[in-house]
Amino acid sequence: MDFTLDSEHRMLQEMIRDFVEKEVKPRAAEVDREHKFPREAIEQMGPLGLLGLNVPEEWGGAGSDYLAAAILYEELGRGCGSTALTVEAHLSLGCAPFVYFGSDMLKEKFLTRLAAGEILGALALTEPGAGSDLKGGVRTKAEKVGDEWVLNGSKMWTTNASVAGVITFLVRTDPAGGSRSLSMIAVPTDAPGLIIHPAERKMGLNGCKTHAVTLEDVRVPLDYLVGEEGRGLHQALAILDGGRVGIGALSVGLAQAAFEEAVKYAKEREAFGGPIANLQAIQFKLADMSTMIDVARWAIYRAAWLKDQGLPFAREAAQAKLFATEMADKVCWEAIQIHGGYGYSAEFPVERIYRDNRLMLIGEGTSEINRLVIARHVLKS
Ligand SMILES: Cc1cc2nc3c(=O)[nH]c(=O)nc-3n(C[C@H](O)[C@H](O)[C@H](O)COP(=O)(O)OP(=O)(O)OC[C@H]3O[C@@H](n4cnc5c(N)ncnc54)[C@H](O)[C@@H]3O)c2cc1C
Repeated sequence: MDFTLDSEHRMLQEMIRDFVEKEVKPRAAEVDREHKFPREAIEQMGPLGLLGLNVPEEWGGAGSDYLAAAILYEELGRGCGSTALTVEAHLSLGCAPFVYFGSDMLKEKFLTRLAAGEILGALALTEPGAGSDLKGGVRTKAEKVGDEWVLNGSKMWTTNASVAGVITFLVRTDPAGGSRSLSMIAVPTDAPGLIIHPAERKMGLNGCKTHAVTLEDVRVPLDYLVGEEGRGLHQALAILDGGRVGIGALSVGLAQAAFEEAVKYAKEREAFGGPIANLQAIQFKLADMSTMIDVARWAIYRAAWLKDQGLPFAREAAQAKLFATEMADKVCWEAIQIHGGYGYSAEFPVERIYRDNRLMLIGEGTSEINRLVIARHVLKS
């Protein structure tokens, strides 16, 4: 499965797998059923260095590469979708703006604490009227007043907002509009005027907290600008390229979990005088599931590797995310089918895994947007 992984990555994988088996997977059903934020597991991950895994060492992180992060998301996804998305949103969306674009002051102030797991991070791009079309749709604005930014507007679907210490907002800083009118600004979650609404009720990922956020005359210093003024859209798209590898890896983990459940059940369940695993119809399903998971995993590893080499990876990331998330949808669907009626019951994990994966085809670039990205690259070359 992982012969391309060197000993360092393999050791990391084993360490995380062990942690997930002991601390994450056993809590997954309760996290889902009780809509419970997986606080215990998250708090344990800070001292293990996992909440700053691919943050540079000089800013308090473990300094690992993106392949390591992909391994982290996959292994967490194999144990619990809610925990995995919380961590993915923290690292890929919360930490990334500071890692790639933050000033030393912002890194010192926020990134060191994010990397240590003292606080979690979040990124607020989406708005009630803007998801895929951030360029045209973002209405949240920031104006310079004296030596401060004053922010007003509404964001939707901000993962981790209620458990985060800092949120980076994509805001319009030039009312004239256009691709150079958006910027990113960091806002501590205790800033007056920042209102985090109750967690959304969702189809799955019930332990991962996602919120609408309102900004009413929120004031932060001018140097809380993350990156360059007017480059917010460009920065957001660069962050999402990396995020796609993360979401794809998470889907590989979810698919792996559903597959393992299906194999176990097929060996145990008897029909027509023997285990259903003896039936060729079931064997073919398992063969297809295994094949698709492996192919998706390789696609994710390749995209992560390209990113780590500093090579172009946007097309490969979009392809990997598209394939892995849609693959996991099919694998989970088949895992439920193999379980028959029990697959539809909350007593078995496959229905939760199916629900948890559904978001992956929507968040950090829908399947349709990924197809557009891929087509653009194909037609350009
Ligand atoms: C649980 C959850 C967590 C989330 N976490 C975050 C977060 O932390 N931060 C954040 O900023 N956002 C977050 N999001 C928002 C998510 O990124 C958006 O929902 C997603 O980008 C799609 O945007 P939208 O919902 O506005 O859909 P729309 O953009 O309105 O799209 C609706 C449909 O139209 C399609 N479509 C749109 N444009 C095109 C096009 N040009 N060509 C073809 N089809 C198109 C889409 O693919 C989709 O099928 C989260 C969402 C959920 C559900």
